[in-house]
Amino acid sequence: MTADITVTEPIAAAGTATIVAEIAIVGGGLAGSLAAAVLARAGHHVVLVDKRAVHPDEFRVEKIGGPQLQMFRRLGFIDALANAACRYDRVLNVREGKVVDVSVSQAYGLPYADLVAMARSQLPDPSSLIVDDVTAIGCSDDIQHLELASGRRIDARLVVLATGMAGALGYKLGIKRRVLAERHSVSFGFTIARTDGTPFDFEALTCYGERTADGVDYLSLFPVRAGMRANLFMFRDPTDPVMRDLRRDTEATLQRLLPGLQPFLGDFRVTDRVQNWVMDLSIVEGHLQPGIVIIGDAFQTNCPAAGTGVARLLVDVERLCTEYAPRWLMTEGMSQEKIAEFYSDPDKIAADQQSLKMARFRQALTSRDDISWNVRRRLHFLRRRITHRVDQMRPGWLAQVRSALRA
Ligand SMILES: Cc1cc2nc3c(=O)[nH]c(=O)nc-3n(C[C@H](O)[C@H](O)[C@H](O)COP(=O)(O)OP(=O)(O)OC[C@H]3O[C@@H](n4cnc5c(N)ncnc54)[C@H](O)[C@@H]3O)c2cc1C
Repeated sequence: MTADITVTEPIAAAGTATIVAEIAIVGGGLAGSLAAAVLARAGHHVVLVDKRAVHPDEFRVEKIGGPQLQMFRRLGFIDALANAACRYDRVLNVREGKVVDVSVSQAYGLPYADLVAMARSQLPDPSSLIVDDVTAIGCSDDIQHLELASGRRIDARLVVLATGMAGALGYKLGIKRRVLAERHSVSFGFTIARTDGTPFDFEALTCYGERTADGVDYLSLFPVRAGMRANLFMFRDPTDPVMRDLRRDTEATLQRLLPGLQPFLGDFRVTDRVQNWVMDLSIVEGHLQPGIVIIGDAFQTNCPAAGTGVARLLVDVERLCTEYAPRWLMTEGMSQEKIAEFYSDPDKIAADQQSLKMARFRQALTSRDDISWNVRRRLHFLRRRITHRVDQMRPGWLAQVRSALRA
């Protein structure tokens, strides 16, 4: 059966009406909002439900660059992203007070709330966003039912669960989270300015940790509209007193943890709230159900230091919304067999595995203190330093050698 897609009452109206749509997306963070925009632009009747009309000022991803940009471009969001964010092209990478190398590639800095607002603004019809709390889901081979806190209901052929790290909604269906690494990493986010009010001498800067015992992977500084944003990524016990020091006396604690930062940064102060986040690595279980598909952090969480969360969710959105969902809707029913196609997509599996691999790599590179990782760490930075020196002496030569070797 193909559902007769009608809305029994205007979406914006409150009350106990049942809203009927082809696809209901629960969670309007980055994953859900982008998915809704891609599907709605392709002509599908989508409703996007989120608890909040405006995403709160919460610390999540704040910079987009590298291959993520190609995905934003492919999905048709690159101009909107560029308009909402601060562009930067050069990142000075330093360690122990010395330059490691300079990364040259386009990137954008912006608060997560602005990124989500940008994604939501790409919905062709703003009224497809329903501000409500989804309290229950019933799923079947045919039509799925959502109950909302306001008393309204939504009937849809497909439900996309993009609820991030909030896991409660799936419990009744047997959808659970398996923790792979508890308290895997700790991240801090804040904005800084020079005490004398002058601009910093760099566009963006990454400063790597110096001692394994400190557990500092790196501090990333990059421009956002409010100033110079700082993301500090660590692998360390979240109950260690240094966490309190970082929140209360951020400037002095940073200088203690990263003494080599001083020549590049000079005297600085924190200009806003210091936010921090302790991240478990976890993956969903019991997710193969008829009529419901799970994307983004709701499927698997990521290590912020590895910077793979957005790449993963973009693969989810691209594969689900341009390939599987449109095809599933062309035939009757929404069986488990259909849903299984998405979870066995090779690109999705590769992105999920790469994310876990990078999470473990960054933790080991930062804090493992055995001989093999000490050697690996030295070689990692030595290789980058040598490549940088050669590039400075003979610009473009290494790139030519690499492409000749590949040919
Ligand atoms: C501190 C930190 C730093 C990070 N840095 C990076 C980085 O540098 N690079 C990178 O690639 N990734 C990074 N990440 C990961 C990245 O931010 C996430 O992968 C991404 O934000 C996940 O988006 P999402 O849409 O899946 O989830 P979310 O953004 O969490 O969205 C979930 C949405 O669901 C809604 N919701 C939940 N339950 C319900 C319900 N019952 N009813 C209605 N709505 C509901 C919530 O209101 C929310 O809006 C970082 C993460 C953290 C925590």
